[in-house]
Amino acid sequence: MKKIVILGATGSIGDSTIALIRKFSKQYQIVGAATNTSVSKLFNIADELDIPYLHIMDDPAYKSSKKLSTKAKVESSMTSLLEFLANADYDLLIAAMVGNIGLLPVLEAIKANKTIALANKETLVSGGHLVQELLKKHPKSSILPVDSEHSAIFQCLRGESKKEVKNIWLTASGGSFRNKSLEDMKSISVKDALTHPNWDMGAKITIDSSSMMNKGLEVIEARWLFDCKFDQIKVVVHPQSIIHSAVEFQDNSFIAQMGQPDMTVPISFALSYPNRNTLNHLKPLDLTTLGSLQFEAPDLTRFPCLKLAFLAGKTGHSAPTVLNAANEVAVDLFLKQKIQFLDIPKLIKNSLSHFKVYKSPNLDKILEIDNETRIYIRNNYEDIL
Ligand code: MG
Repeated sequence: MKKIVILGATGSIGDSTIALIRKFSKQYQIVGAATNTSVSKLFNIADELDIPYLHIMDDPAYKSSKKLSTKAKVESSMTSLLEFLANADYDLLIAAMVGNIGLLPVLEAIKANKTIALANKETLVSGGHLVQELLKKHPKSSILPVDSEHSAIFQCLRGESKKEVKNIWLTASGGSFRNKSLEDMKSISVKDALTHPNWDMGAKITIDSSSMMNKGLEVIEARWLFDCKFDQIKVVVHPQSIIHSAVEFQDNSFIAQMGQPDMTVPISFALSYPNRNTLNHLKPLDLTTLGSLQFEAPDLTRFPCLKLAFLAGKTGHSAPTVLNAANEVAVDLFLKQKIQFLDIPKLIKNSLSHFKVYKSPNLDKILEIDNETRIYIRNNYEDIL
């Protein structure tokens, strides 16, 4: 029986994970679950699956939770969550919260020598060097990627030698606006941007997919997960989302991982690793009816977020933290209809030139820069645009 803690239990990855755990209830047991604000949903899951420990990140939501009842122990505040992650008995942490908030819990789980199934890419974007350093000190801890592209690469690299890798090819669906002109992109509504052609995901990641910032964040995520150079990471638009990513080797061979676009598969692989669960309940991929697959270069003029992410990634140090924080706030402003879709890259670009690069930031500095960037954008976005 694998004991599991899920952070982000009520989000899109949380839903898929819990559906799998229900199906394989003899193999997995949830011993802790956290939400930001979805208290009643969390309590229902806890009572159904007998989860003994719950955590509510948002303070007002925690206070309102007192009106509801559950058999579980309920806590709030980052300190109590970190204490739980340091001392609880569990085998796998599913880090599926949204945004930079995931960094501290992931670092704590590494210190406790745990395995982490990482769906929260912002953690590696903002603090990849800290995660890497800490993993070296705690070799019993490891990270299993849940992001479909990184799970694909991880699977392609099984049994391969790192020095034989030439390039990593991240596939991108291209999002909803792959064929929209720059002129048409000016009037994109929140509703347009929240519709994804292939993947069913949460709001923040769907907007990131529409702007291709999601792929940019994934480039930085890949750099840390697979310890490669930015020049070795290639992005290719593949609208069908059947090939989830590929690795190119020194002999010019490619190994790609493919399947239906369904997050259940990479989540299941992280749960069952190094084995595979039998997922007969999912729609299989039928190669005889698949038809053709398309590939094309990404358009960096219409999708400047991808270019900005490569730039911040190559600059390194504090730049990816600024990129990520500026993006989180810009996406939030767009969702609240305070800015236009094409304002998102403008705000990020401005932040990257506004904040000077701070060399080798430690955790406190990362959190400080993250916070300063958020305040800067919130207070100045109207002047910047
Ligand atoms: Mg992905």
